[in-house]
Amino acid sequence: MCLLLSRIIQANGGSPPLTYKKFLHVLSVLGEPEKPCRDVSAEDFLRCPTPADPELAYGVPSLADLGLEVQSETPWPGGETHALQRLHTHFQSQGWVSSFSKPRTVPNSLLPSTTALSPYLSLGCLSVRTFYHRLSSVYAQSKNHSLPPVSLQGQVLWREFFYTVASATPNFTKMEGNPICLQIHWYHEPESLEKWRTARTGFPWIDAIMTQLRQEGWIHHLARHAVACFLTRGDLWISWEEGMKVFEEFLLDADYSLNAGNWMWLSASAFFHKYTRIFCPVRFGRRTDPQGQYLRKYLPVLKNFPSQYIYEPWKAPKDVQLSAGCIIGKDYPCPMVCHTEASQRNLGLMRQVRTEQQKTAELTRDVTDDPMEAGLKRELQEEEELLEGAEPRSRSKRLSGSADHKSRPSSWTLETVRLSEDVT
Ligand SMILES: Cc1cc2nc3c(=O)[nH]c(=O)nc-3n(C[C@H](O)[C@H](O)[C@H](O)COP(=O)(O)OP(=O)(O)OC[C@H]3O[C@@H](n4cnc5c(N)ncnc54)[C@H](O)[C@@H]3O)c2cc1C
Repeated sequence: MCLLLSRIIQANGGSPPLTYKKFLHVLSVLGEPEKPCRDVSAEDFLRCPTPADPELAYGVPSLADLGLEVQSETPWPGGETHALQRLHTHFQSQGWVSSFSKPRTVPNSLLPSTTALSPYLSLGCLSVRTFYHRLSSVYAQSKNHSLPPVSLQGQVLWREFFYTVASATPNFTKMEGNPICLQIHWYHEPESLEKWRTARTGFPWIDAIMTQLRQEGWIHHLARHAVACFLTRGDLWISWEEGMKVFEEFLLDADYSLNAGNWMWLSASAFFHKYTRIFCPVRFGRRTDPQGQYLRKYLPVLKNFPSQYIYEPWKAPKDVQLSAGCIIGKDYPCPMVCHTEASQRNLGLMRQVRTEQQKTAELTRDVTDDPMEAGLKRELQEEEELLEGAEPRSRSKRLSGSADHKSRPSSWTLETVRLSEDVT
């Protein structure tokens, strides 16, 4: 761990700083984290003899020895050597490092647009102190560089922030008994959860991300935003704990404090307060990849759709579906919800929860925007306006009562999806 958590907590008066801004303030008082320990060399090992034959006693069996299929190509070969190579390659590019701004990185590029070092950091192949201090030396050579929260240094500080809060918050990975988390009556809908988990929501942008997650074990931060928002406050109103468990199952970088902290953030259960910003599962991905190359890669069943329809193939006329070789509802699912209706309803529910539990919401409230969301703010304005403009409707009787939110109030047909998408 980069900084001693106990020192941070002590410097903050005995409790963890619950906002990133406050966290940065405490760090500015404490100063720089310690340098990493020196690297272990071959000579060190010469001083560690063992009576047993190390290969026989401690040799790591290969995948083939274990009877597992050997995959020659993986984007994340394990070990410190690969981690250091990746770090070195990125940090060689001084301009890229100095101007790094997380919201400007692309969630659907075919190769990672961020460092993709998270699996190495979370599995202990790369020391976060090494990352931090090498980054500082790149900064030292630059005339100017971006700053937290959006800079590269800002990213590892998010990591330390969530570690710090998690270390001193009871039940950090749960809603119940977690003092900083809003208590929400999420729907219990195993079938819907399973559709999301197995990439069968009918929204290509969401399904492509879930496919990449399942196949490769890593997805971009904003892609995580998209699927997490969809599962929770955006569309399905299913608990962030369920999403966190699925991420834990598939992510190579799964890390309990970062995973839980970010899930609470995305579901607006803690840390994040601009809950009126809801990602559209059609427009979000289309902004940075209008041709849908990412969708074609991860959802080959849709690869012959014209770009015009690839994000919403259910809108394609029958003859287009036929010539693409994919009939919606047969070869690829219809959308499982009407995004416009679901997001408006959920917005009303969230508004009600936050009014009732204002004290809890205030605990982790910062005056600054979520940096990732701030970068998308301009593009999302239209969407926000739609949702805010729709507020009187979303406050309809169905939303304002102290409803038992255990089951979805209505189901949607392809026809209602078409109708409401048209007015978006
Ligand atoms: C719902 C959700 C769940 C997540 N679960 C995890 C998880 O289990 N493990 C995990 O490592 N990250 C998690 N993240 C945070 C973030 O998405 C990844 O750390 C990041 O995308 C990894 O890619 P990278 O190494 O290229 O990041 P870069 O942008 O290159 O950042 C460098 C490092 O900073 C740290 N970092 C970056 N963003 C964050 C962040 N938002 N919070 C905390 N640390 C951050 C990571 O260690 C990362 O490797 C989650 C984000 C969301 C929205």
